[in-house]
Amino acid sequence: MTFDQLGLSAPILKALETQGYTHPTPIQQQAIPILLKGKDLLGVAQTGTGKTAAFGIPILHHLFQARTQQQGKRKIKALVVTPTRELAIQIGESFTAYGKHTGLRNTVIFGGVKQGKQVNVLRAGVDILIATPGRLLDLMNQGFISLQDIEYAVLDEADQMLDMGFIHDIKKIIAKLPPKRQSLFFSATMPKTIVELSRKILGDFEQVTIKPQQATAEKVEQAIYFVKKSDKVKLLVHLLEDKPQDSVLVFSRTKHGANKIVKKLAQANIEAAAIHGNKSQTARQKALGSFKEGKLKVLVATDIAARGIDVEELSLVINHDLPNVPETYVHRIGRTGRASASGIALSFCDAEERPYLRDIEKLIKQEVPRITEHPFVDDTKEPEQPQRAKKSHGSGNRNRNSSRNRSRNSGNRRRNSSNRDNRGNTNASSE
Ligand code: AMP
Repeated sequence: MTFDQLGLSAPILKALETQGYTHPTPIQQQAIPILLKGKDLLGVAQTGTGKTAAFGIPILHHLFQARTQQQGKRKIKALVVTPTRELAIQIGESFTAYGKHTGLRNTVIFGGVKQGKQVNVLRAGVDILIATPGRLLDLMNQGFISLQDIEYAVLDEADQMLDMGFIHDIKKIIAKLPPKRQSLFFSATMPKTIVELSRKILGDFEQVTIKPQQATAEKVEQAIYFVKKSDKVKLLVHLLEDKPQDSVLVFSRTKHGANKIVKKLAQANIEAAAIHGNKSQTARQKALGSFKEGKLKVLVATDIAARGIDVEELSLVINHDLPNVPETYVHRIGRTGRASASGIALSFCDAEERPYLRDIEKLIKQEVPRITEHPFVDDTKEPEQPQRAKKSHGSGNRNRNSSRNRSRNSGNRRRNSSNRDNRGNTNASSE
């Protein structure tokens, strides 16, 4: 299927062509027809699947079709609520790109910066508003924003918004939406509280599910390094020096940890910047901006700060720490291998993190290949728990992975694959 077959307005098709999009991603293929019919949608999907275009394109299409009826100052007709500033900015950029020839205006509002500029744009009038929950409520309470003309409401990354403690804000926002509207609800996971919240916003809806492991994990080359906690930064320096990459995103579990990594990398003459909640909005934007432009090659981030990072050609993700929530691993490695591209994700695992690795492998239904030959191998403990070794004998996943990795053909990937082949053999003999 191509975008031409979806019945979209000509200016949108023109913009998609400029973007170089020819074929809709699975979520776009499923969601766009539902949304063009005007139905509500529950999307179980995460960033990296092409979700923004899946909701952005139909909204732009509807608003463009209805544009002639509009008179006077623009009223906000579409609202997208999303958890982080980074994500909000990227959604705004997507609306601007896809809506380039439609004459529709969007703006983005988020906290942590002065409100003056945001208020001025709102005063001038916009059709589409992308907002983080806190600033949205704030400006609503001050009378700068009215939701009474909203026809399209999107709640994006709902599980993340709940994790960040936005539940009350979200409920207050939902309560202000007019009853006659099209509602879209996206969440990567669907725990009970999210199902309940989705019922509050959705009317008669259709559901589209893009499983995270299908969307990302399978097409990302992954590898694990067993390493002592105290050797992790040394290993990071070694990898960055050994195989310099254009854009590396390093994940740290804590903000303090992220700062420490940046400092240690600086001591090794590797320039890096950290982004996390304790950094000012200006510092975060600056770091993200240089990273996206390719001026800064290494960015160290915590999960929440990194949630919205969408960098084309992100060559490598390194998990300096393994997350204790396995879904977070899938989110992280989804930063590389976006939409149609594939990527590489390397993870460091110290003795305490071995149980996290088991949970991750259970979730992604794959054994992550081990790199057994590197200068900082943690040989103080058995790399594998007995129960794991037994399981991997039966599953045969390792072999499937190795052959998949072998078939990759880019320069960097070939280097990585050969590591993996070595490791695969060593690993097999050690079991
Ligand atoms: P998202 O899940 O919305 O964050 O999108 C992930 C990435 O995929 C973004 O960089 C988009 O620009 C890109 N993308 C979205 N849809 C398509 C498509 N149909 N073809 C190629 N790239 C796409």
